[in-house]
Amino acid sequence: MLDQQQIDGTVAFHGHHCPGLTFGMRVGEWVLREFGHAEDEEIAAVVETDMCAVDAIQYLVGCTFGKGNLIFLDYGKNAYSFFRRNDGKSTRLVTRGGLLLDLRERQEKLDPNDQISRRQLQQEMIERILEAEFEKIFSICPVQIPMPETARIHKSRPCDHCGELVMETRLLNDPKLTNGKNLCIPCRINCQ
Ligand SMILES: [Zn+2]
Ligand SMILES: [Zn+2]
Repeated sequence: MLDQQQIDGTVAFHGHHCPGLTFGMRVGEWVLREFGHAEDEEIAAVVETDMCAVDAIQYLVGCTFGKGNLIFLDYGKNAYSFFRRNDGKSTRLVTRGGLLLDLRERQEKLDPNDQISRRQLQQEMIERILEAEFEKIFSICPVQIPMPETARIHKSRPCDHCGELVMETRLLNDPKLTNGKNLCIPCRINCQ
């Protein structure tokens, strides 16, 4: 179980307490136990959503965007893969759905202006997520993708069109597509 300090810290980091964040807290709690905490890049996460839950993963597990050990795939799935570098351990957690079905139905019937009932229902959702058995919330699956590479620092060069500095791995120089110029991604799209 997460202690109160971890819960409060996660809520402070995210800005509010919501069911989505609570799902992320359960993921974080499980990963801390099964994989440990990423001080640096020991653990990498690949998340398939950019919703609230990911903030809990960043805060609790230490897989963050800036360290390069949080990779976002815009698939719109509540699925999270974790990799440990020292032994290659990996797992994908996929939300089963259904846990909050009856509460979501009640939520839809609520008067949108009835803030008190909406907040009470949210609180009920949060408590249910916190108390549910982990395997009832998530399927624990093998990962389907290779371990992400460690973050590397690349040189920056100017784009020949906009002049802005660009990480060299993001510049394209192709005789046909870019007329032999080094072009950044937005300039490439605009020039087409
Ligand atoms: Zn939220
Ligand atoms: Zn450019």
